[in-house]
Amino acid sequence: MQKIIIKKGRERSMINRHPWIFSGAIQTLPKAELGEILSIYTHDNQLIGYGFYAPGTQIVCRVFEYTKQEINVLEPDYWIQKFQKAFLLRKRFIISKHTNAYRLINAEGDFFPGLIADVYNDVVVVQLLIKGTENLADFIIKALNSLGFEKIYLKTKEVTGRLENVGRKKGWISEKKGNTQIEIIENGIKFLVDIESGQKTGFFLDQRDARQLIKQYAKGAKVCNTFSYSGGFSLYALDAGAELVHSVDSSKIAVQLIEDNLKLNNIAAERHQSYAEDVFKFLKNTDNKYDLIVLDPPAFAKTAKAVPNATRGYKELNLIAFRKINPGGIVFTFSCSQKITRDLFRKIVFGAAADARRNIRILHQTTQPPDHPINIYHPENEYLKGLVLYVE
Ligand code: SAH
Repeated sequence: MQKIIIKKGRERSMINRHPWIFSGAIQTLPKAELGEILSIYTHDNQLIGYGFYAPGTQIVCRVFEYTKQEINVLEPDYWIQKFQKAFLLRKRFIISKHTNAYRLINAEGDFFPGLIADVYNDVVVVQLLIKGTENLADFIIKALNSLGFEKIYLKTKEVTGRLENVGRKKGWISEKKGNTQIEIIENGIKFLVDIESGQKTGFFLDQRDARQLIKQYAKGAKVCNTFSYSGGFSLYALDAGAELVHSVDSSKIAVQLIEDNLKLNNIAAERHQSYAEDVFKFLKNTDNKYDLIVLDPPAFAKTAKAVPNATRGYKELNLIAFRKINPGGIVFTFSCSQKITRDLFRKIVFGAAADARRNIRILHQTTQPPDHPINIYHPENEYLKGLVLYVE
């Protein structure tokens, strides 16, 4: 195995177990291939870990193991153990007879940079985000088989795929194939997940806890669930006894999924209305007032450069919601932009509240659920933040 050697004085971030090594910290770059597994050494020849190589990029090495002892990371057993540890965490805290959909591998959050694996009932949807994990595809299939998963579907993001030259595309990578429309259960509520044409790997698993929280506030309420996708928050609100729910999403495919999910859960048609519209337009034009509004937009800031525009977008959205909420109403507001920090998000919502001139109090602050763990040495992995607000 080839070595990468860290410059003298540049070991700090490695001592702090940060999983990314930047090109400026490297003393000697080996002549290895993109995606190759390398051992990482200090300038005085001490082993510190192993990672995936990406020459010519800013993050030249993504560390998946910090260790002073040599480990055989080229054997499937090593990777099987990684999966077992991740599975154990989910078995202890997530999987139950009421929930069979969860993130099994959350990239750096499970010490596995470049890999996302989401479980939908008996199907695993895998995203290979870098060449390093693409090279491991056979080990990954083996590891998943050893945990009892036989149906494995690959869905690599196009952008990242191109950046790292990941060649494999969409499709089943296991011998056994399944249906690409899968029925799952989450906190006792059924959903249809379309792994082929749905967004992300098919479902927004990261909002499971926030969706559960809405049940405390939905009874008897008139609810507007914006950016509703397949109706996650809507179905929870209806299950908790909301009087009426409006779901708004600009995607017709998403609205069709909501309709399917309402049927699947036997919800009476008169309790729900879908709108395939732009949320900003819908909220501005509606004469309705609501007791509960959910704002769960897509990431407005995908890059640091986009932060100022995104800030304006979040502020405008929250402000319109504060104008449409009944006194004593509740607003669930979220940002999944990694570049918008928790502090900044709160300041933005503060700005909208001040403009709306209403008394607003924070009842809860939400984050990612435990199947999206954040590696403490890698705060970049924390992207989802939410506030539950009481609006007088
Ligand atoms: N709350 C959802 C996830 C929301 S994902 C859940 O719990 O599952 C964001 C959604 O916003 C996507 O479905 C996307 O189609 C929709 N969307 C993006 N921009 C929009 C806009 N301007 N108006 C309406 N919907 C929009």
